[in-house]
Amino acid sequence: MIVTRTVADVRAALAGRRDGTVGLVPTMGALHAGHLALLAAARERSDTVVTSLFVNPAQFGEPADLNGYPRDERRDLDAAREAGVDVVFAPSAAEMYPPGYQTWVEVTELGVTLEGEHRPGHFRGVATVCLKLFLIVRSELAFFGQKDAQQVDVLRRMVADLELELQLVVVPTVRDADGLALSSRNVLLTPEERRRALALPRALATRDPETARAILEASGLEVDYVAVAPFDPPILAAAVRAGSTRLIDNVPLDEER
Ligand code: AMP
Repeated sequence: MIVTRTVADVRAALAGRRDGTVGLVPTMGALHAGHLALLAAARERSDTVVTSLFVNPAQFGEPADLNGYPRDERRDLDAAREAGVDVVFAPSAAEMYPPGYQTWVEVTELGVTLEGEHRPGHFRGVATVCLKLFLIVRSELAFFGQKDAQQVDVLRRMVADLELELQLVVVPTVRDADGLALSSRNVLLTPEERRRALALPRALATRDPETARAILEASGLEVDYVAVAPFDPPILAAAVRAGSTRLIDNVPLDEER
């Protein structure tokens, strides 16, 4: 496994691998079994698997959220190696946004609803970093989790609008045995907050927005939104806060219970 830190180095690492399919798995590190499912899907469908580890400052609002985001690169590199990754791209913020940087991508409508409404600028940061990663790696495939369904919807729009020659592959949400969707942020929950957070998958499993809202409000979680979103597939999505940790989750509405 080759670990690269600069755009020039990741391009050089990929130069000899262009005759096969390249698959990209963008992550912010703190890898868990959800990320591993993406890497496994990428390994199955690609000759070369590239993963990025980059906590993208541009998609965070609160500095405290960015500073408190879990980071453990040594563990991530072990997990990536174990998952059969060929090339890791782990740039610094200055590599991705050098002094003078001023070009941004906005998905103007899909990017300002739901998550975008509660996290202004979030999808501008996501779309920009993903476009940069797509152009740097030039993969045929990019793998994303259904857990972040609106991110998938925003990126699909960007790929279509900008005529990118890239296929997005969506991987189902991986959950803990108790139903909580895996998230790098789960380690920030106290045991009591984690217990309360179980109301989130329980509420969404009702597949009914009013019932879900009632369950969430009774659980002591702060509700940012609960809504049916007209993505492909349509989902029931919610965002809540347990203490200072914000959690999102969704269930596709086209599946059997
Ligand atoms: P993150 O590191 O949180 O930015 O996530 C990187 C990728 O992993 C995104 O495409 C996420 O949607 C995906 N992902 C995160 N959590 C899960 C999960 N529990 N199941 C499946 N995919 C996930």
